[in-house]
Amino acid sequence: MADSNFLTEHNARHVWHPMAHPAEMRANPPTIITGGEGAEIIDIDGKRLLDGVGGLWNVNLGYSCDAVKHAITTQLNELPYYSAFRGTTNGPLIELSVALAEFFGPDGMVRSFFTSGGSDSVETALRLARQFHKINGQPERTKFVSLKKGYHGTHFGGASVNGNQNFRRAYEPLLPGTIHLAAPYAYRNPFNTDDPKLIADAIIRQFADEIAFNGADTIAALIMEPVLGAGGVIVPHESLMPGLRTLCDKNGILLIADEVITAFGRTGAWSGSRLWGVQPDMMCSAKAITNGYFPFGAVMIGSRIADAFEADRTAMGSIGHGYTYSGHPVGAAAALACLTETIKQDLPTNAAARGVELLDGLNDLQARHPIIGDVRGKGLMCALELVANRDDKTPAGKDVVGKVYQGAYDAGVMIRTSGNNIILSPTLIISKADVARILDALDAGLKSAHN
Ligand code: PMP
Repeated sequence: MADSNFLTEHNARHVWHPMAHPAEMRANPPTIITGGEGAEIIDIDGKRLLDGVGGLWNVNLGYSCDAVKHAITTQLNELPYYSAFRGTTNGPLIELSVALAEFFGPDGMVRSFFTSGGSDSVETALRLARQFHKINGQPERTKFVSLKKGYHGTHFGGASVNGNQNFRRAYEPLLPGTIHLAAPYAYRNPFNTDDPKLIADAIIRQFADEIAFNGADTIAALIMEPVLGAGGVIVPHESLMPGLRTLCDKNGILLIADEVITAFGRTGAWSGSRLWGVQPDMMCSAKAITNGYFPFGAVMIGSRIADAFEADRTAMGSIGHGYTYSGHPVGAAAALACLTETIKQDLPTNAAARGVELLDGLNDLQARHPIIGDVRGKGLMCALELVANRDDKTPAGKDVVGKVYQGAYDAGVMIRTSGNNIILSPTLIISKADVARILDALDAGLKSAHN
């Protein structure tokens, strides 16, 4: 590989990074990652870092999962690609569909449509929701409801239901007919309370109000993350998703669970829907489905939708979209191996246990560091919200957040910053000692920020 200076210089000159300003990338060159082992990554200077971010919430099994690597290379040698459009299919894809129906059977899922990633999965779910209502003779049901602070990817459909201004403004106008309910964000909300149950009640009432205002017969689906990830790890009260599901049922509205982060164990349950005891009509997945080793995703589909499409023998019942890589045999083989490993290593259980330790430790840090305004988490998705002042909750500035990041990095742990939030989503293979390592590094980073 070329040397570090050459790479940094050419990165600044030729690469446009997602979610970043090109000039900022020149001023603050990104770290070049050259290796990964177990729960650690290695930078170009050879520094080993415990990956507190798990790639992008996706490398659940860590960087050395030989079973998945082997499945990928074996499949590459056998059949590196063939399409799953109409006339052809492939073995790994079929086996994976069976395995997903089995593991997400408790969530009511019976079939899968494959994609190249999370944004594709969201786009497909939104499309299928509209199509479902057309099949059912309700073509006016076209609107989508979502939560502020929700993140649903980068395609125009997903961007339209996204609840974060930063991902919308530059691309407006977006899809018409999207309705945003308040975020279940106890620390900051318009409801004058920090009681998660009261906030959930208020959001459910808001949904009822929007249904009455718009007319139930205009709404296709509600899409939500069971635990909001990119919006800053916002964990709703357990009553929120069931309450919204009840209103969907009463009003003929589909529920799409965006489980791109939460499927496959991250919250400590197999899926975020299961965590809250809800059966959605569709589940969007991606990320950990292949442990980040191959771009892949799936929309899992419940029987109500599957049956409706099956019964419609007109052109409307045919799925009028697909991706070149829908059902890629290498992705499917990787996903099958990931499922097997996740079960074998019982990763959801480890995520739950380590998550409790991590959250306890973060709460201890909050008691010692006044710049921590809020601590949130479920399983191995956690966040610290940094403030300049706890009384008025003024968000901490970029410089402070940057110092925490650098301090943690120097202490050997990669964390992620998002606005004034520190996001933690390590691999699900971490040990108790790794949790302590993350907490010690954060402590060092936090100290450096207020010294
Ligand atoms: N939905 C959710 C909940 C996500 O977190 C993400 C990615 N962070 C997406 C959709 C989009 O997935 P991708 O980046 O794979 O397109």
